[in-house]
Amino acid sequence: MQKNDLVCLSVTDLNNLGCGVGHLSGGDADGMTVFVQGAITGDEVEARIIRITKQYLVARLERIVVPSKYRSVSDCNASLGCGGCSYRHVVYPHELDRKRAYVEAAFKKAGLAEVTVEPVRTTGETSGYRNKAQYPIGSDREGRTVAGFYAVNSHRIVPSDHCSLQPPVFGELVRYVCGFCDRHRISVYDERTGKGLLRHLYLRMGKATGEVMVCLVVKGDSLPHEEEFSREIIEKFPSVVGVLLNINRADTNVVLGERYRLLAGKSSIEDVLCGLRFRISPQAFYQVNHNACELLYGIAKERADLSGGELLLDLYCGIGTIGLSMADRAGEVMGVEIVPEAVECAKENAARNGITNATFVCGDASDPEGLLKTAADLRGDLSGAVIVLDPPRKGTTRELAEAIARYGVRKVVYISCNPDTLARDCAWFRELGYEVGTVTPVDMFPRTGHVESVVRLVRQ
Ligand code: SAH
Repeated sequence: MQKNDLVCLSVTDLNNLGCGVGHLSGGDADGMTVFVQGAITGDEVEARIIRITKQYLVARLERIVVPSKYRSVSDCNASLGCGGCSYRHVVYPHELDRKRAYVEAAFKKAGLAEVTVEPVRTTGETSGYRNKAQYPIGSDREGRTVAGFYAVNSHRIVPSDHCSLQPPVFGELVRYVCGFCDRHRISVYDERTGKGLLRHLYLRMGKATGEVMVCLVVKGDSLPHEEEFSREIIEKFPSVVGVLLNINRADTNVVLGERYRLLAGKSSIEDVLCGLRFRISPQAFYQVNHNACELLYGIAKERADLSGGELLLDLYCGIGTIGLSMADRAGEVMGVEIVPEAVECAKENAARNGITNATFVCGDASDPEGLLKTAADLRGDLSGAVIVLDPPRKGTTRELAEAIARYGVRKVVYISCNPDTLARDCAWFRELGYEVGTVTPVDMFPRTGHVESVVRLVRQ
């Protein structure tokens, strides 16, 4: 087998990166795994080998000889170039099957093959669901300003002013902002030279309120014609409630700098989630899919199964959404979060919703000497407490899991956007004497390779 060889393949699987998986048959490489971007389970394809490693081959799709029954027409012409939507060209039920299989495989790999993974729960809404986008800004061959998404594994921008995962107003804002910058010849940032001003367009929307935030990330302290910019946006887009600049002078691929400047309106948006009203500052995390988030929190609340008197610890709490949505069933809620602006929002969100049994602190949730110890010192005993864990993609820490076990906490509800770290962490909890309950995946990110999951851990 050599580079550029053409092979015929039956595609037998589809991974979460949107690659069809097949195996060579015959010859000295018999049985070797081949990944083909754009091919899906059930396709018969011709593909050209473009990369050879000891364990697998990568091939480029040349021709679909027999299309799979799971194929659907992609309604986005950028999806293969942009790579954001691994499942854009697949019927939705098959995507849900693959996502369940992905979660199952992660648990199996972590040594938890006997854990039951339920079918993926979904709201059924597969487009326009995102409430946040960060578009890198660049220029095309003609020198026009473009904004879009990075192509897979690269920093080449695939222009996008009509991404079907985003609400239509985001595309309109992309067009307006690019047009404004062209009109005023505002330079775009070039990663290679470190020169130029415009870096990203960061947009956020409250699904229930319709409020939109527009934030331009710039390498500088100001934007030429910034008064005109913010005035025009507010005039043309009635849903925009705030226009901001984010100052990012560092030569880094981290999108946001620390400093914001408000150009017009207010610096945060509001949304209504689970019947509560939340303030969301630009620095704070907020779940990107409003309706799927309500579905997820509902399942988490069911799993927490609070009876009214318990202490609920909301670890990695963001703006307090989970703890506050469960506060009516808890005796007391304590949340911890590392981003100070998010903690400010969480405190304010408790107050504005008239919730008096919730407190929030800023700190490292993974630190066993942190909130957990404070709560134990206050209460004396944490065995009756319930913990909600919702860490970032890298998961939680072994130290935290050990501390939770040491304090004798009986019930943990673990929410995760990364099946691999979730499974790893569940294996720790099992070693520490917890029974791992049924895993319920929730499709928070339809059409993309990502999937959220929730699972209850109960101390035996
Ligand atoms: N539970 C929230 C947020 C989940 S996202 C919600 O559902 O909206 C994970 C959160 O953990 C983010 O807000 C992030 O800022 C925070 N975080 C990351 N590392 C942390 C740490 N070591 N300690 C506390 N919070 C952390």
